[in-house]
Amino acid sequence: MPTTNSPTLIEKIAEKLRLIPNLHGDLGGEVPRLTEPGNLTNYPPPEQWDDWVEYEAKSWPRRHAKHYMIVPTTCFNCEAGCGLLSYIDKSTMQVRKFEGNPYHPGSRGRNCAKGPATINQINDTDRILYPLKREGRRGDGRWARVSWNNVLDDIASRIRTALQEKRNNEVVYHVGRPGHEGYMDRILQSWGVDGHNSHTNICSAGARFGYAIWQMYDRPSPDHANANFILLISAHLESGHYFNPHAQRIIEGMMNGAKLAVMDPRLSNTASMADYWMPTYPGSEAAVLLAIAKVIIDESLYNRAYLCDWVNWQQYLQHEHPNDEVTFDNFILALKAAYKEYTPEFAEKESGVPAKTIVEVARQIGRAGTRFATHNWRSAGSGNLGGWAVARCLHFLNVLTGSVGTVGGTSPSAWSKFKPTVPHKPPAQKFWNELHFPNEYPLAHYEMSFLLPHFLKEGRGKLDTYFTRVFNPVWTYPDGFSWIEALSDESKIGLHTALTPTWNETAYFADYVLPMGHASERHDIISYETHSGLWIAFRQPVLREARRKMGQPVQFTYESNPGEVWEEDEFWIELSWRIDPDGSLGIKKHFISPYRPGEKITIDEYYQYIFERTSGLPEKAAEHGLSPLEYMRKFGAFEVEQTSYNKHLRPIAAADLQGTDTDSATGLIKKAGKNIGVMVNGAACEGFPTPSRKQEFFSPTMIEWGWPEYKIPTYIKSHIHPDTLDRSKGEFPLVPTFRLPTLIHSRSGNAKWLYEISNRNPIWMHTSDAKKLGIQTGDLLRVTTDIGYFVDRVWVTEGIKPGVVACSHHLGRWRRPQDAPGNRWATSLVEVKAVNSNQSSVTSDQLSVTSALGFRTSDQRPRTSDLGQQWHMKTLDTIRPYKSSDPDSSRIFWGDGGVHQNITFPVHPDPISGMHCWHQKVRIEKAHPEDRYGDVFVDTQKSFAIYQEWLKMTRPAPGPKGLRRPLWLNRPLRPVDEMFYLEK
Ligand code: SF4
Repeated sequence: MPTTNSPTLIEKIAEKLRLIPNLHGDLGGEVPRLTEPGNLTNYPPPEQWDDWVEYEAKSWPRRHAKHYMIVPTTCFNCEAGCGLLSYIDKSTMQVRKFEGNPYHPGSRGRNCAKGPATINQINDTDRILYPLKREGRRGDGRWARVSWNNVLDDIASRIRTALQEKRNNEVVYHVGRPGHEGYMDRILQSWGVDGHNSHTNICSAGARFGYAIWQMYDRPSPDHANANFILLISAHLESGHYFNPHAQRIIEGMMNGAKLAVMDPRLSNTASMADYWMPTYPGSEAAVLLAIAKVIIDESLYNRAYLCDWVNWQQYLQHEHPNDEVTFDNFILALKAAYKEYTPEFAEKESGVPAKTIVEVARQIGRAGTRFATHNWRSAGSGNLGGWAVARCLHFLNVLTGSVGTVGGTSPSAWSKFKPTVPHKPPAQKFWNELHFPNEYPLAHYEMSFLLPHFLKEGRGKLDTYFTRVFNPVWTYPDGFSWIEALSDESKIGLHTALTPTWNETAYFADYVLPMGHASERHDIISYETHSGLWIAFRQPVLREARRKMGQPVQFTYESNPGEVWEEDEFWIELSWRIDPDGSLGIKKHFISPYRPGEKITIDEYYQYIFERTSGLPEKAAEHGLSPLEYMRKFGAFEVEQTSYNKHLRPIAAADLQGTDTDSATGLIKKAGKNIGVMVNGAACEGFPTPSRKQEFFSPTMIEWGWPEYKIPTYIKSHIHPDTLDRSKGEFPLVPTFRLPTLIHSRSGNAKWLYEISNRNPIWMHTSDAKKLGIQTGDLLRVTTDIGYFVDRVWVTEGIKPGVVACSHHLGRWRRPQDAPGNRWATSLVEVKAVNSNQSSVTSDQLSVTSALGFRTSDQRPRTSDLGQQWHMKTLDTIRPYKSSDPDSSRIFWGDGGVHQNITFPVHPDPISGMHCWHQKVRIEKAHPEDRYGDVFVDTQKSFAIYQEWLKMTRPAPGPKGLRRPLWLNRPLRPVDEMFYLEK
């Protein structure tokens, strides 16, 4: 019912003076307000979502009421999975805007700038609307529209042949941002391929390994809102995983009195809000953390009960101090001895953070006790050789304070992560793909995806059918020119299919480009550890749902999407069905409807099946008179658990205790040869999924796999440690990892609002360094890496640690003259030129001439020229206004799209975690006379040599019992256990 709004005195005066239009005169001083009576409402109430009325902003000052249908979905512009409400104009059936969904337990109605910018992406005039097949040679830039039917038949027949010929490892799906829960695992395992590759080893695998070696769970889930002290080695107020949901809760915690400390050489937005900004020298973080640990141990600020019950300290003493009695006090003495070198003064020397600050922070942490929340995501964990040790040492502080899994503490991620029950789940595959998990990296936490071009160059294998999805390694990864070389070579990659809604630097080198839906044009379920609790959210194609509600249902999502844009879920079902039309390969049975025997599953049935088996959801839905699927369609999210604390204390059910044995020395409870829990203080608890079922301060695994020096949390000197730099030659450590709050790695190029805000990535340099070098803001610099250089401008600032430079990786998108116009808010036009070993050069429009570049066109031994070229990139034209159906495209006012830095970095695989160590030792100098802004040069023969240098640092499998990798550590798309053994 409309309520009224009386004009204020100021409004009356402003109307009289005609400063604003008369909004009240014709209604006798009253304006109807189309919201709930009474209290101010932040969000439309769900009862009105089917017919929500708002005035049309563009008609102002006329009051033109518009009728909307509001349908929830989930953002796909980062990994946080925040809720969105789409506002669909019922007269045009177009989405007009996206706002937050208050029913989403993680984001609670709030979004960052990237959420609402989804509207830019669906309205992008450069988006790909039809399936395309390359014409001419790969990379030529010539494309022809083809039918989905032909594409599906072609790809299905290739995969079918590969499977029939037992070439299962040649079928690979390579994903950047998954955005779903297990959907692709189900597809790939139904095909029986070990074909999952991901971006994780250029993102978070370092930190993940640091957590996993403690507790198998590989991510932290801090309870910021209830913390007394928060320590971030990240910039979680503006970026990083789950940053919007985390930022809300960090601020809540601070409003309740929590103190915040931030380690970051850059004065990030987060650091600027901190009580303690600790600008560590990059790579020194573990030294500082161990100094904090030392203070906590020396001053008896640790949690004795937690350490005593939940750490494998007895194992440590028995192994390392066999002559000492196994008592807790002896353990503390051993700890003191083990960390005696890590004085605050030593940490100050390594990091530049004053010892006094380190001691003060340590005492605050000790006082916070179990209410100590921490996070390290990419940042130091992803930048440094041994970066995984940063997360390991950070978690050490949680263990010392007993804040693992507590209110206000830091829980393992999996405690807050939903695992769907899917129909016709396929068994684990019986293959091990050594292109993903090679023997040199037995502890690699995820696939060695960034080494793929080098593995292919070495002739370790080839790919028959290669899918890339939300994945742009040419631009996002280090050493992108090596990717171009691999992708251009048909003898290495038989068919490259890029599944993407928009053009990108990798799709230019595809055979098929298949348009897939944006966030509001597809289905997924999502669940992330944003706080203590457990939720699922439903990403749904909003126009499909709106049409269903309005009595115009469609059978497939592409019928409600623009052009011929599909969604992946339906694509994979259809493709799988065609790979195995008669069921003889054993694939088809996984795609049969659980409700209609013998018939192909529909996407509604797939989600119906999961939601019917989601704890508490059927009951909640019934309260609303809805089925579980209807509930999720209506609200878009469901809270499965309100909190998720202390799950290690869960008792083992009496039935499960039947037939178990308990080891009297260790307390381990075994059943059928497997550890299922541990006795602690007389109670049979689940514990942690480690060999000891406890937190593994002492890691027998590190010893067994050849790294005894890292048996306990340790500081590892980074490859950019000051010892490795020659300052007299202008050498600096470059921090290239930081995110801008408004951009997504490779996916925001089609979001005009975001590029209007952020469109350049200068080199951050401290004023003192700039003075020494005679440099001013805006000067052009040449930044030389081990394989090439890039030319960028400098930003001189006090917001970075002296002696360190930094550059955001978010900018520098490009397209070549022959490429389809795409992402023109973000891409500069460039010429890419390769010089082969004979010094003859080819320009960007000849880049696909693989034979001219010396690439193999058939299965031959590698030649020197196969191992690399010299590549030059020059900007031909900057971003500029253009004509399109979107009038904003002619209003572009920025001409700068930034500089592509990642492509000038060699690969740096950490020999343990397998993480690419992003930080670079660079030489900074003023630009040469011939240098122009955006210039890039790379020698990929050098990058191959650096790959080989880092490879030498590894200590390969087999480990104990002929294992390729420890059985207890997780592995993405885990094969059957037999495949873990190298030696049978
Ligand atoms: S934090 Fe991530 S998921 Fe949330 S609105 Fe921003 S981009 Fe979307």
